[in-house]
Formats: sequence, structure tokens, C-alpha cells
Amino acid sequence: MDAAELPEREGMDYDVVVVGAGPAGLAAAIRLKQLDENLSVVVVEKGSEVGAHILSGAVIDPIGLDRLFPDWREDADAPLKTAVTEDRFYLLGPAGSLRLPNAVMPPLMNNHGNYVGSLGNVCRWLAGKAEALGVEIYPGFAAAELLFDGNGAVTGVATGDMGIGRDGEPGPNFARGMELRGKYTLFAEGARGSLSKQLIARYKLDEGREPPKFGLGIKELWQLDPARHKPGLVQHSFGWPLSSDTGGGSFLYHLEDGQAVVGFVVHLNYSNPYLSPFEEFQRFKTHPLIREQLEGGKRLSYGARAITEGGYQSVPRTVFPGGALIGCAAGFVNVPRIKGSHNAVLSGMLAAEEAAAALAQGRAQDELEGYETGWRAGEIGADLWKVRNVKPLWSKFGTYVGIALGGLDMWANTLLKWSPFGTLRHGKPDSDTLKPAKDSRKIAYPKPDGVVSFDRLSSVFLSNTNHEEDQPVHLKVKDMALQKRSEHDVYAGPSNRYCPAGVYEWVEKDGEEVFVINAQNCVHCKTCDIKDPNRNITWVTPEGGGGPNYPNM
Ligand SMILES: Cc1cc2nc3c(=O)[nH]c(=O)nc-3n(C[C@H](O)[C@H](O)[C@H](O)COP(=O)(O)OP(=O)(O)OC[C@H]3O[C@@H](n4cnc5c(N)ncnc54)[C@H](O)[C@@H]3O)c2cc1C
Ligand code: SF4
Repeated sequence: MDAAELPEREGMDYDVVVVGAGPAGLAAAIRLKQLDENLSVVVVEKGSEVGAHILSGAVIDPIGLDRLFPDWREDADAPLKTAVTEDRFYLLGPAGSLRLPNAVMPPLMNNHGNYVGSLGNVCRWLAGKAEALGVEIYPGFAAAELLFDGNGAVTGVATGDMGIGRDGEPGPNFARGMELRGKYTLFAEGARGSLSKQLIARYKLDEGREPPKFGLGIKELWQLDPARHKPGLVQHSFGWPLSSDTGGGSFLYHLEDGQAVVGFVVHLNYSNPYLSPFEEFQRFKTHPLIREQLEGGKRLSYGARAITEGGYQSVPRTVFPGGALIGCAAGFVNVPRIKGSHNAVLSGMLAAEEAAAALAQGRAQDELEGYETGWRAGEIGADLWKVRNVKPLWSKFGTYVGIALGGLDMWANTLLKWSPFGTLRHGKPDSDTLKPAKDSRKIAYPKPDGVVSFDRLSSVFLSNTNHEEDQPVHLKVKDMALQKRSEHDVYAGPSNRYCPAGVYEWVEKDGEEVFVINAQNCVHCKTCDIKDPNRNITWVTPEGGGGPNYPNM
């Protein structure tokens, strides 16, 4: 049915509309109400509940929370209970490991004073705080469309229509989406936000910036054998099983209640189309250093999410008429620290302060210029500036030399406020880094042992992913012939390996290779939207409430 034939959408008007109930969106909503309780603020979230789609480490630097709720530590319901007690960094080889002395690590890598916990649970707690202040939160609704006024300024978002069948026609449960209109709209969609991507293109927010860069993080939550549990232990590694020309590394954090998280990040500028981040993660867990911590335990949950890695030089212009990008929608992750949640909170607060000041002056739908200059001049800019060369050095010189140079660069930036490298460029976007299959080495991954390593389908099962099956496929392939000609014939179908949820398959049907998309398994990590070698796949929001249901990731 044509959009013009559909019934009109109902709308609601607010001072500020926030898209996404992650740390950035919730901090923004809370700060707005702290500044002026009379402001009307709405948050729309595509997960079935707040936290359902949040996947992070997480070691959390409390700088943002300290600013938002200075007495949060006295709140018995605050979910961050475990302070970091020990920091360990390892270089892994196939059988052995080398522990790096903490003294060689630049001070910014020190995790003392930080907390280990579930960012999903932090968001659930923040949502309670926001609602107590009068913020309206609508989980289960995806912001699917941008709204503009006649001058081209953003006036809000529309949530997706519900009950559209796979054929694109309204079904018996059809319900039109809602227009949520705001004087300002803050986009807090996290890494590779689907509307944020449209805004960046429409307003050319990335002009003069380096391309965005990403990693894919895959994570599991474990209940450990109590004898092996050390609350507050934070362990990172790099090296094996990745070869030196592929960036990435692991994290293993011991939480409270006998639980630990183990995860692996693969930089998405890898070049071998046969590489599977999922299989690398499974293989990593078989290393003696990791196996000894996991054996005797039970895997509870699984998930995956892209993480922004472009840093300072890739952050697009963050403001445009009527709104701003906050948190990882802008890309505020400090890559060597693998931390972005603190900057998500700080950026949400800063954007809220600018929006509240503008509203107090009677302004609407203009650019919050103070936010753009403020993040660069303030603590977010300082945090990202010091580490701006770590990722490009790693990409250029490989793991061993690149990390050593990155370490020196962080020391120089810390001690001398100067870098011998200036500001390095990233070069290509991650979609352009694959080599043709004929020039690449096939990788034989070991079979899962069912003790510490597992297959993809049993893993996806633990993400509690669910989508209404009768809906249009939310992974849009622009040109199927190109997918066959290039993704399949030239690159040997890397989507089958980079997707951590087994969504994509090339299947032979009547003598032809057909691209099958098992969209109901999608965990919303956004990797296909980033890594497809022809940028031929676009991730759009499925029906609200669909996707993973992470318990405490
Ligand atoms: C594997 C991994 C490990 C990490 N480890 C750490 C760590 O240890 N410490 C740390 O500080 N940071 C870590 N990070 C980074 C951290 O998770 C992010 O910086 C942080 O989550 C960004 O917050 P955000 O609010 O910008 O976005 P997100 O946390 O991604 O939240 C975005 C929210 O918006 C919702 N949403 C998106 N699009 C829409 C839409 N169109 N409509 C409605 N809702 C929408 C999503 O469902 C989600 O709930 C890690 C990230 C990963 C992937
Ligand atoms: S289909 Fe794309 S977004 Fe969904 S899980 Fe696979 S790679 Fe991630």
C-alpha cells in the first residue's frame, strides 16, 4: 500500500524528543528535567524494555554518573557494586601468555576507581530515575523516520508502523506509527544509528572528517565456579588468536554474584573475507589462560554489538537544525580504554544543558552550536585527543609494533601534551578493506568443545532474540545482482562469517546460489551495515520490541 493511502499518523508535541534509552539518551533526559522540571521530554526505545538492547563490557568510569547524581553511591538500588580491584594486561601466544607490567601502561589505562557491571542494568536504573523526574519513556517503539519542517530542520521522529506483513501490506493488527515532535531532537542511537546515519548524509556532517571506524564486540555472561571467581578483576589481552595484521583484543571482567563477562572485539577493518569474529572469539576462550577461568562454570547469555573506534578525528559535526547526535551516535569511544559510556553520559548532559538554555531563550529548531564547541573544548575532547593515534597506528603497523607505538604516543600526549605523529588519518572506511577471496587464506576453525566454545545457533538462542516473523525484512539489500556478483563471487560471502547471529547464508536452490536472510535472528549489532564490501546492505529498524532481550549485558 502506498504511504499516501495509509491513515494519518497521530502526533504528540514535546520540548525535547530523545531517540534511544542508552546512557547518552537517559542522561540527556534526566539532565533536562533536573534543569527545568516543566520541560516535556520523551524517550523512545526500540528494545522491548530499557536495557534489552544494551550490550557493553563494562568497566565504567563514573565521571559521568558523578556529575549527574553526585550521591549515586548512597543509592541502595544503584547497580554498580563492584569496584575494580586488579588490572591485568596480557599478550597472548597460541599456548602461552606474557603479562605486561602495569607500570609500562600509560596512566589513562589504569582502571582503579572504576566499576565493573552491566551497562544494561545501569540503564534500567537510570530509566527509573528519569521517570521519577517526569520523563516519558516508551520502550518497544522504534524511531523509524525523520520528520522535517519546510526549512529542512528536524522536527522529530515517527515511530514505525506495526502489523505490516512480510509482503509490505498492512495485516489484521496494523497500527500506524506516532509522530513525536520536538523543538529539539537528540539522537542517542549508539554505534551506527540508523537515523543518525541518514542525518550525517543529509547534512553532510562528516565533511572534512575521517571516515567512521568500528569494531565488532561479541560477549558472553558466565556464572563461574566460585573457586575461580575474583570480584573486581579486570583482564585485557591482545595477540592470539588474531594475526598481527588484524586488530582486536579481549576483555574478561569479574562482576559480583559469582559472575564474569568474557568478550572479544575484532576491528572491522580486517582484510581476510574468510575471517569470522565469532569463531575467533570461540577459539580465544580455549586459551589456557581463559579456559582455566571458565571451566566448571556455565554460560548464561550471549550477544554482539558494534563499537565505534574512529575517535576524535572521525566524530562528525554533531549539530544540525533541530537536533544533535549524542553518545556513540557521534562516536565518543576512547579506543584503548574500550570505554564510551562515560562520554555517552557527559555528552547527553552537555547537549541537554545547551537545549535547556536554548529553550529558555524561546529558541527552537536551530543549531545547538555550544554543544559542538563544548564537547571538543571540554573533557570529552581531552579524553579522545590523547588517544587519537592509537587506532591508526595499530591499523598501519599491525598489532605488535602498532600497540608499542600507540603506548609511546599515549605517554607523549600525557606527559608532554604533544604527539610525534601529529594527528594520523584512518584512511578507508571498514567496508573497503576486504581483499578478494582469491588473494586470501582460508581459515580452518576448530569445532566447538561445548565446554568453553560453542556454535552460533546455540549462542544466538542465549540472546533471547525474537522478531515478529510476518514483517518486511529489516536488512535491505539494495541490489541483489551486485550481492551475487561481488559479495558472493569475489569475496566468498563474508556476511556468513561476520554476522555474529548467522543471519546471512548463500544457499543453492535449483542450481543457483541464493542469498538467504534469516532476519528474525538479528541481534542489531549493525555489522552488516558497516562491513558489506559494496555498502549494499542497510539495517533499518524492524517492528518495535523486536531484537535481543539481554538480561544484564
Ligand atoms: C563489546 C563492547 C564492550 C564495551 N565495553 C565498554 C566498557 O567496558 N566501558 C565503557 O564505558 N564502554 C564500553 N563500551 C562502549 C559503550 O557500550 C558505549 O560507548 C555506550 O553504550 C554508548 O552509549 P549510547 O547511549 O550512546 O548508545 P547505546 O548504549 O548503544 O544505546 C543506544 C540505545 O538506543 C536504542 N536505539 C537505537 N536506535 C534506535 C531507534 N531508531 N529507535 C529507538 N531506539 C533506538 C538502542 O536499542 C539502545 O538501547 C563497549 C561497547 C561494546 C560493544
Ligand atoms: S544481520 Fe547485521 S545487524 Fe543483524 S546480527 Fe547480523 S550483522 Fe548484526
